[in-house]
Amino acid sequence: MFSKILIANRGEIACRIIRTARLMNIATVTVYSDADAAARHVAMADEAVHIGASPVQESYLNGNRIIAAALQTGAEAVHPGYGFLSENAGFVDAVTAAGLVFIGPSAQAIRKMGLKDAAKKLMQDADVPVVPGYHGDNQDAGFLAGKAGEIGYPVLIKARAGGGGKGMRKVEHPSGFAAALQSARREAQASFGDGHVLIEKYISTPRHIEVQVFGDNFGHVVHLFERDCSLQRRHQKVIEEAPAPGMNDAVRAAMTEAAVKAARTIDYSGAGTVEFIVDGSGPLRTDGFWFMEMNTRLQVEHPVTEAITGQDLVEWQLRIAAGEILPLGQDDLRIEGHAFEARLYAEDPANGFLPATGRLTHLNFGDARIDTGVEVGAEISPHYDPMIAKIITHDGSRTGALQKLHRALSETHVAGTVTNVGFLAALCRHHGFAAGRVDTGLIERDLEVLLSGPEAGAPVFVFAGIAALDLDLSDAMSGWRLWGDASHALALVHNGAPLSKRLMIHSRDSMSVAGHDGRLDDIRRSGSRLTARFEGRKVTADVVRTDSAGVRGVSVLMDGRTYWFVVPDPLDTGSDPAGGGEEVTAPMTGVVKLLDVAAGQSVQRGDRLLVMEAMKMELSLTAPRDGVIAQVACAVGRQVADGTVLVRFEEAESGPERTGAH
Ligand code: ADP
Ligand code: ADP
Ligand code: MG
Repeated sequence: MFSKILIANRGEIACRIIRTARLMNIATVTVYSDADAAARHVAMADEAVHIGASPVQESYLNGNRIIAAALQTGAEAVHPGYGFLSENAGFVDAVTAAGLVFIGPSAQAIRKMGLKDAAKKLMQDADVPVVPGYHGDNQDAGFLAGKAGEIGYPVLIKARAGGGGKGMRKVEHPSGFAAALQSARREAQASFGDGHVLIEKYISTPRHIEVQVFGDNFGHVVHLFERDCSLQRRHQKVIEEAPAPGMNDAVRAAMTEAAVKAARTIDYSGAGTVEFIVDGSGPLRTDGFWFMEMNTRLQVEHPVTEAITGQDLVEWQLRIAAGEILPLGQDDLRIEGHAFEARLYAEDPANGFLPATGRLTHLNFGDARIDTGVEVGAEISPHYDPMIAKIITHDGSRTGALQKLHRALSETHVAGTVTNVGFLAALCRHHGFAAGRVDTGLIERDLEVLLSGPEAGAPVFVFAGIAALDLDLSDAMSGWRLWGDASHALALVHNGAPLSKRLMIHSRDSMSVAGHDGRLDDIRRSGSRLTARFEGRKVTADVVRTDSAGVRGVSVLMDGRTYWFVVPDPLDTGSDPAGGGEEVTAPMTGVVKLLDVAAGQSVQRGDRLLVMEAMKMELSLTAPRDGVIAQVACAVGRQVADGTVLVRFEEAESGPERTGAH
């Protein structure tokens, strides 16, 4: 076995690989870019080597730097993770030429599966069922339109070099073919530097079912059953599971046999996944699945297979790369129960799933296997995939595993960025999904329902109020009681809109909000956790103050959702917690929308300096004191990171009145 390996990746997968390496007493070296200097994968590894600037071309895609780091630290092998250089045959050649072991298949196997058209021809020749279509070299637009007509609409145009759902266009009718072809080619050229496409029959009500395979260097190949990845958005996986719902022995035998045949055809070694598109319009059939592509690497969703087989797939990869034979034979492998994985992303579902950034000020996961690459304080930067974590659950039954996933998601609270956690939880409640009726169109069809969350009600506002007003629950009545109930005005800004609420305080542990139904009783606080009884059920939330640089914020994390409020302070506009007031910094990552001041201008305390937009919310930043603007260090339309200095003040004249000021 190796004594030291280098991991040519970042984020959760780098941390995942370190975990297994440590169990096997293998030392680990990670690499990192500027942006990742403080990342979890760097802290976790035994050694870490800086390889370049933040953009991936200058760091995680820089094969030469990575190989140099391996040689310099005495690593014997390189694990590529997924994405980045994992399916780059040229990198494999370079690793091997440097006298290192590539933990993955041979460069030749990667090349054979690298282009979808060539892979399909190869599979056709090996008698693996392939989607009907044109996989040839003729790229003339008129010729391809003719082929689409022969195949029969709807058709799918695919980039042969594609991945991650890019360069793919579904065409319903011949009239749309020419335009779709042009845009698919443009996207393919831009993403992969290869505009070559193929045309496929679009399978109606498609399901995506894939088979995990493993080969060793002695000609053995086994499969570790299937995963269903039909819950997709824009051809990208959202929730994966194993085994596939509705699978039966005959279809499983046919699909796994085809997958093993595919792997054998290319003398496959290491972990691989053979993806099939499946006719999901009725029950699964032995003649209702077709080869789509083979991913010659560890897959993002490998943990669901680990959960149902009890195997560690990274350990298998390491053993095989070190020259051992497959840890188990086919007859030793069994399916135990059911598993799900949900991909938690920093993205805004309500805003077209726009990728989000931000510094994680609070991070709490529910009870599940969590594969993550971040911790509290980590920055989700625009340079890399905004995945925060994978949440994996396992149970004896599908229903049980899904319930566990829902519970884990409901207990997952993230502050500092928007996430898709509420959307994932809504998916778990989807009746079709719960019944195992999945297809790749499910999410798009029911998007509106999946996105419509409950409006914030009394519990959210009471909890926000307690935090915003700094109420001491042991003495909530003091100060406000006039006669009868006490009440307190609560001004909040939510999604850019000002809200004016009245918090009614009935006793120290009982409150309601004027205009909202119901009343919270037995309110208790322990750290950031608030609980209460509301309409016969227990409600629980984490409530976190997200104050920074003069903007007070409160996040209420409840039922898998984040309700984020800005608390305008009527008494102290532009209060400055830093105290100095010499500069105004961005309280969160966002875009500067409006600038009210210029260098040299005199302002008074409380004057608006600029307006920022972050996560669809407008924030006005005001002058912390009277003074003269020395410098405006930002520009309208520019994205600024949390903590960036936006405006500098000229030094205040020193005087006794300032020293004594509060
Ligand atoms: P899966 O989710 O099945 O593992 P994906 O196709 O979603 O596979 O890819 C997994 C990772 O690899 C993602 O981070 C994705 O961005 C990256 N990836 C996939 N294909 C490519 C490609 N051709 N070029 C760069 N990155 C890719
Ligand atoms: P990528 O390399 O981007 O992962 P794939 O060929 O694996 O590309 O396809 C990605 C997704 O597109 C599939 O999971 C499936 O949802 C959809 N898809 C691919 N081929 C077809 C097809 N012939 N009919 C219907 N949907 C398809
Ligand atoms: Mg794919």
